[in-house]
Amino acid sequence: MSHPPIDLAALDLGELEAALEARGVERFHARQLYRWIYKRGVTDIDRMTDLSRTLRETLKSQVIISTPQIVGDDRSVDGTRKLVLELADARRIEAVFIPDTPSMTFCISTQVGCAMACGFCLTGRMGLVRHLTAGEIAGQVRVLAAATGMLDHPFNIVLMGMGEPLHNYDNTMKALRMLHAEHGLAVSPRRVTLSTVGIVPGLERLAREPLMPNLAISLHATTDEQRTALVPPNRKYPLAEILAVCRRFPLKRRSRITFEYVMLAGVNDTPEDARRLAKLLTGIKSKVNLIPLNPAPGIPYERPSDERVDRFAQILADRHLTVSVRKSRGRDIRAACGQLIVEGGTRRSAAQTMALLMK
Ligand code: SAH
Repeated sequence: MSHPPIDLAALDLGELEAALEARGVERFHARQLYRWIYKRGVTDIDRMTDLSRTLRETLKSQVIISTPQIVGDDRSVDGTRKLVLELADARRIEAVFIPDTPSMTFCISTQVGCAMACGFCLTGRMGLVRHLTAGEIAGQVRVLAAATGMLDHPFNIVLMGMGEPLHNYDNTMKALRMLHAEHGLAVSPRRVTLSTVGIVPGLERLAREPLMPNLAISLHATTDEQRTALVPPNRKYPLAEILAVCRRFPLKRRSRITFEYVMLAGVNDTPEDARRLAKLLTGIKSKVNLIPLNPAPGIPYERPSDERVDRFAQILADRHLTVSVRKSRGRDIRAACGQLIVEGGTRRSAAQTMALLMK
């Protein structure tokens, strides 16, 4: 057998079955492997005791199970944990565990850095270093679940770490399929939320997916002029187009699209902004999530006062919108929204170095 070693962590269940079959191994072993890797968090083939010794030896000579390594683990006073994970090429990403009652949430990354360059986001300062593979996206969940003792408990996943998921569409959706596999973690798509700046062709594809996560749109502004200044992709995909896709988006019964709105003092937090926002969302099954800015060095905006946020929320509520204000978790360890940037990675891209110098 002269196959090069194959990375089992990169394969969905169907691909794993096919890869085993190509090596003369029976397909049903794929389900056992999925159970070990995902459900039990075990990547050491010697510990996979329901596989015969011969099969374990065959596998050991032919496969690897590449898994992000924990190189940093910060705990916030509020219980939030930020893991810095190192990938096979020594690039680093961050993934966050947000404990809450009754639900626990993993916030995971889809890219190293991000190309969207939103004006208030620290990750955006890094530029895009590279896309994550499906195995690396799903791998974060495996590692978080094992590290936090959550392998046997239900948890939510938000694709709100570093990166823009619809800019890395195929790998993101493949990772969701891997996480959904019933012999693995069996994560229901209802427990997954994909947050996007609103890349219209990606939204149109998403609307046809059989495994559809919940959708959150990072809106942040109510006029194209204001939004283009804050979220540059708006130049290509303006508000009207994004909202038109949202209007036709196939939603399950009782589900709604979340509209995220980062509040920046004196920029997008006036009562007029709130009224315009309510108007824009008419006719969409929506809920609004206000995110008072998490300030960071080098970010040229400020967080509005609580009164200002409450007033904005009240205007939306008066117009019968469901509004929540996001609690920022883990700000003391820089794990909050828009605060993920890898510091001190072994290999920095030029963009990363620039971003660090600008702080
Ligand atoms: N690229 C995706 C997901 C990543 S960010 C997206 O843009 O939706 C998740 C959320 O955090 C987005 O709504 C993003 O706009 C917001 N965010 C970014 N920087 C922030 C900051 N400094 N303070 C508060 N929220 C921020």
